[in-house]
Amino acid sequence: MRRKSRTVKIGSCLIGGDNPVVVQSMCSTDTRNVEATVAQIKELEAAGCQIARVAVVDDEAAAAIKKIKAAIAIPLVADIHFDYKLALQSLAAGADGLRINPGNIGERKRVQAVVSACREKNTPIRIGVNSGSLDKQMLKRYGVVCAEAMVESALENIKILEDMDFREIKISLKASSVKLTLEAYRLMASQVDYPLHIGITEAGTKDRALIKSALGLGRLLNEGIGDTIRVSLTGNPVDEVWAAYEILRNLGLSERGVELISCPTCGRCEIDLIPLAEAVDRAVRNIEQPLKVAVMGCVVNGPGEAREADVGIAGGRGFGLLFRNGEIIRKVPATDMLSELLQEINKLIENK
Ligand code: SF4
Repeated sequence: MRRKSRTVKIGSCLIGGDNPVVVQSMCSTDTRNVEATVAQIKELEAAGCQIARVAVVDDEAAAAIKKIKAAIAIPLVADIHFDYKLALQSLAAGADGLRINPGNIGERKRVQAVVSACREKNTPIRIGVNSGSLDKQMLKRYGVVCAEAMVESALENIKILEDMDFREIKISLKASSVKLTLEAYRLMASQVDYPLHIGITEAGTKDRALIKSALGLGRLLNEGIGDTIRVSLTGNPVDEVWAAYEILRNLGLSERGVELISCPTCGRCEIDLIPLAEAVDRAVRNIEQPLKVAVMGCVVNGPGEAREADVGIAGGRGFGLLFRNGEIIRKVPATDMLSELLQEINKLIENK
């Protein structure tokens, strides 16, 4: 069952409560380079990203938010470390959300200034505790980086905002360790009702990050924990968005996109299945409609094994059998398998 949480609004996007889990990503571009950042956000939007985040490192980056915002359709979050002035500038430039830890801002009146500006614009703040940059005092208190220390650090930050009667808060507790991430989010989920932004941070290069994220985020989401997700990987952020939807779809939390069923091949396979499956995968990645597509190695077991698929192909010797809902509909030469399958997919999409 989904954990009960408050709802916060980032631009047009509702996070928490009964709202679907929101997919977000962070730009890898230099925010000061407006053209490159807008181009990347547009790619993210096309992949289904619902919120984009940019690093605000100086005045120029904060000012760039205005131009970036004018050119994109999804809400934009400004990610700031320490400097409250950059937070104020980002808000003035139109940022829809802030990621800043009040405990790092310093004097109370500075925090107050940020909170007042957020309140005025109804802009939420994400408190983000990362295991790699845990507060020194907390580290001293606990001796090691642990879930309790991460949660306590976040609670201290939350208290600063609550004392100012500000509750438009979202929380993240990321670690590069899946186990630590799970423990930290579970502990936090039992203590507060703020929406949770979940992610495994510094998860590694693409394949490794996908495994860590699927494990960590998958388990949390399956326990009802998590209101917005970011898959974080060393690579193109567009892949983060795709991976996020794969995780959500496989848990029944999103219907977006194509589920690709393909067999591992075995001694019965008589076609060059791997390049075919990879070509189909590339061709269907940008399809938004929910669809199950199968690419199977043989006619003996293929259609039966892929009974759940809307459409698929099963290889024979020099030919492939096209099938729909587990039933064979036509025989096509091996050279035409890809094009025939894609044609069938397009027909299904048009009919949907
Ligand atoms: Fe082997 Fe056919 Fe199953 Fe593929 S579908 S693994 S080729 S039996």
